[in-house]
Amino acid sequence: MQPAFDISRLVRPNIAGLKPYSSARSEFTGQAEIFLDANENPFETGLNRYPDPLAKQVKKILNPIKRVAAERMVLGNGSDEIIDLIFRIFCEPGQDNVITMLPTYGMYRVSADINNVAVKEVPLLQGFIPNVDAVLRAVDERTKVLWVCTPNNPSGNDFPEYEVRRLVEEFPGIVVIDEAYIDFADRPSYSTWLDEFPNLIIMQTFSKAWGMAGIRLGIGMASEQIVDLMNAVKPPYNVNVLSQQKALEALKDEATFKQKLTEIKRQRLWLEDQLRRFDWVAKVHPSDANFLLIQVTDAPDLYQFLTGKGIIVRDRSRQYLCEGCLRFTVGTEQENQQLVQVLKTY
Ligand SMILES: *Cc1c(COP(=O)(O)O)cnc(C)c1O
Repeated sequence: MQPAFDISRLVRPNIAGLKPYSSARSEFTGQAEIFLDANENPFETGLNRYPDPLAKQVKKILNPIKRVAAERMVLGNGSDEIIDLIFRIFCEPGQDNVITMLPTYGMYRVSADINNVAVKEVPLLQGFIPNVDAVLRAVDERTKVLWVCTPNNPSGNDFPEYEVRRLVEEFPGIVVIDEAYIDFADRPSYSTWLDEFPNLIIMQTFSKAWGMAGIRLGIGMASEQIVDLMNAVKPPYNVNVLSQQKALEALKDEATFKQKLTEIKRQRLWLEDQLRRFDWVAKVHPSDANFLLIQVTDAPDLYQFLTGKGIIVRDRSRQYLCEGCLRFTVGTEQENQQLVQVLKTY
């Protein structure tokens, strides 16, 4: 980290000068009983009002769980929306570039392509470890963002803390740590670094451990300055009323969350052990997530076989460092047992 980090150097000029959309309700601070400001339908159904643009109640419950202040959180329509926001805030189309470390989550590339932002792809080292020196060498004067996915998708491993810290300290732009799988890993979130690093953005999601992929809710955590930019750029009502309600319900029941999490981790161990026994399995990569990347003798053939039996897994065999690999999500006990039974007939 350079001393006196200056974010204005990284923000697109049109965004730095943006005057965000403002509703009468967000400007009004007193107590009101009659709302005639937003052209809503007045008949109460529980859904006739616009959602809270800042989802303050959700953030209030998230605060003790994530140990991050509400002012340092932004909620997105899935983390995929947060990814897109980061491109739109920091990357000038046709000029700026970002760095990813292959193999990794596909949406960074898709979002970059949609925003017409170049991607420099720096391969991970064997064992899916960041090549910090190669990343730093790839930086030029138009490099704005580094995408760090840990635990990484599709490899499943959590990067060594030493490498992650070096990247955050030495990369001269925004470092995004995507912690979609953090709850399956055995370490606390890097959100504890937010005080130390004003260039850091942490992303998490309700789609995996929280079991709510259907409500589309992602979390961004960063300095207040960055969160303010995200709030200014995001569509004001990006997280709808139903999603906010469902998130509140789920967050109030942390016990169920923890119980399912424990079960998925237990199932991961079981499945890992079962898979290792097949002689056509060359490698089960270590996983800190809710999936296993396994290398087999003939990935397309096994993929076809499983599809024929009504079991869909992810073929990652054409990804860098993933030759011959399929990715299996950990299912319920029954699903995993069925999978193994079917694999025994392969
Ligand atoms: C699944 C996943 C997400 C989650 O995206 P949502 O839009 O929140 O569902 C984010 N990052 C990675 C690496 C993922 O694998």
